[in-house]
Amino acid sequence: MSIIKEQIPMKEQLPQERKKNFYEVPLGYTKEEAILEATRCLQCPTHPCIDGCPVHIDIPGFIKAIKEDNLSLSIEIMHDTNLLPAITGRVCPQEEQCQVVCVMGKVGDPVAIGKLERYIADWELENRSRGNINIPKKKESKNKKIAIVGSGPAGLTCAVNLIKMGYEVTIFEGFHELGGVLTYGIPEFRLPKKIVKEEIEFLNKLGVKFNLDFPIGRSETISDLFKDGYSAVFIGTGAGAPQFMHIPGENLGGIYSANEYLTRVNLMKAYKFPDYDTPIKVGKRVAVIGGGNVAMDSARTALRLGAEHVFLIYRRSRTEMPAREEEIIHAEEEGIEFMLLTNPIRYIGNENGLVKQVECIKMKLGEEDASGRRRPIPIESSEFLIDIEQAIVAIGTTPNPIISKTTQDLKTGRHGEILVDENGQTSVKGAFAGGDIVTGAATVITAMGAGGLAASSINRYLSGELK
Ligand code: FAD
Ligand code: SF4
Ligand code: SF4
Repeated sequence: MSIIKEQIPMKEQLPQERKKNFYEVPLGYTKEEAILEATRCLQCPTHPCIDGCPVHIDIPGFIKAIKEDNLSLSIEIMHDTNLLPAITGRVCPQEEQCQVVCVMGKVGDPVAIGKLERYIADWELENRSRGNINIPKKKESKNKKIAIVGSGPAGLTCAVNLIKMGYEVTIFEGFHELGGVLTYGIPEFRLPKKIVKEEIEFLNKLGVKFNLDFPIGRSETISDLFKDGYSAVFIGTGAGAPQFMHIPGENLGGIYSANEYLTRVNLMKAYKFPDYDTPIKVGKRVAVIGGGNVAMDSARTALRLGAEHVFLIYRRSRTEMPAREEEIIHAEEEGIEFMLLTNPIRYIGNENGLVKQVECIKMKLGEEDASGRRRPIPIESSEFLIDIEQAIVAIGTTPNPIISKTTQDLKTGRHGEILVDENGQTSVKGAFAGGDIVTGAATVITAMGAGGLAASSINRYLSGELK
């Protein structure tokens, strides 16, 4: 049989339609499309794809089961290493991980591993909603309580793995909803909240306890958790503190951090105001500063909220943009105007203290910097003004210092990240950490990998194997 060189495309909402709604953009594979894509996998004995995946999913195994239309087996293989495939299948940067090393990439397109992952996960969610839930077996109770601080992908993964080992697990979450960035950061049109909720409901069924609206570091600290009888603690509090450029005018009205903007829209459902309590300003001309996933999400959200012209201002070129290629293409298709090699230098306000213009300067690329990307250098006398009603700053985030400030002896790094050893153990005995709070802003799958590693280290620590 001849090899199909191109990936089987996934149908999507058309740009003209989707930019007016919050529904998901890619629509998923049909059974026929999934089986056809699965036949493209060569079942390589060396399977480099597995090493490309941070949690080492048996990729040829789950794809072979799709090809044979044995979806129960496929999801079972997936769940061995990844309990949130409906999420990772949608948002994982596959093109830089499992797919970049796929052997099929040498003769054509790599196998669409992420799309196939989403296909089986959606199949399983549909079966679950019909009451056909496949609850993984738990080991006998170990009669030990573990506290998980933060309910993002790191905390959720750590919780599932520990409860399956027989521990009593309680999650403490500062917000009123679980899921971390999956819930309040990544917008509905990329990751429907129904999916996140259903995956979390699964944890509930496994017996994980939840304490919402409970930020650790205020009335209760990490050391209080130990006093309350928790044998170990996992800190997965993410990197949610926004960074600003510290340029003149940044305090004007109408300038948001992407974090606040997306949280208002996703968590407080500001796009449904007045049905929901939280309003959000809808600017007609919106500038989004940055070139990562967060910037793309903010720009595409502004468009869906009714902005007529969205500028994405990024100081390097398109090649250096850290956002996923798929998100960049989607943003371009939807009509976001990319102002590349451009950097804001100040905001100008009106008599009411609201932003009305952003002054920018043109940039050129110099030598590579520490990040391996070419350094942007301002071009003299190239300043220009853009009229705007709103700006959203998406230039990165850092860890929130609340836990490190209230936990004695907890060692942190230069940017406030918690320092851990190769087992995810912090400098405080019995306290482990992982995800963005350790790495700085990274990815869902790396956070999940860190949560999984910490769970097995906690188990080894509590059985005396790890000191
Ligand atoms: P988080 O998801 O940040 O979760 C931390 C949780 O801890 C939060 O719920 C927070 O409320 C809670 N918390 C914080 N402090 C406390 C406290 N003191 N007490 C109790 N709870 C606390 N990654 C991808 O792989 N693909 C993408 O497409 C992608 N897009 C993104 C888009 C946006 C807009 C953002 C912001 C991030 C995106 N990421 C993406 C990155 C990814 O979401 C994160 O790397 C990942 O969520 C980190 O997981 P985490 O569990 O470490 O932290
Ligand atoms: Fe690829 Fe991500 Fe799935 Fe791993 S979790 S197989 S990296 S899409
Ligand atoms: Fe299949 Fe690609 Fe993995 Fe080979 S490298 S087993 S073709 S997914």
